[in-house]
Amino acid sequence: MSDCIFCKFANGEIPVEFVYRDEDVFVIRDINPQASTHFLVIPTQHIASSAEVTDPSVWSKVVGRAVELACKMGLDRDGFRMVVNTGEQGGQTVPHLHLHLLSGRNFGWPPG
Ligand code: AMP
Ligand code: ZN
Repeated sequence: MSDCIFCKFANGEIPVEFVYRDEDVFVIRDINPQASTHFLVIPTQHIASSAEVTDPSVWSKVVGRAVELACKMGLDRDGFRMVVNTGEQGGQTVPHLHLHLLSGRNFGWPPG
């Protein structure tokens, strides 16, 4: 999508450091980290939000890569949180599906 910042990362129009990248998914550091580790796991394909996912394999790629990366980095030792914000009340600000992978502090439950 031409006006989407995450698509611009994916197609190289805006340079960004990739923490991980394959054909389907890429991972970058959040510009405004909410914990000492805060990655965004993003499908390469433009999908506006979780509510727009029609192919369930998108989830296995996004969630699967997030957990794999978390375990590879040892984040499972103390724990980590994965979050997908959807829509206005869900707190979504970038309209391209992404999963937040956070670690490095206590997040507590329920969320605020
Ligand atoms: P959400 O509010 O769930 O849509 O999350 C969007 C996330 O994208 C926020 O945590 C932002 O800090 C992050 N973000 C926005 N612009 C950039 C950028 N240029 N590089 C990295 N992360 C970004
Ligand atoms: Zn996009």
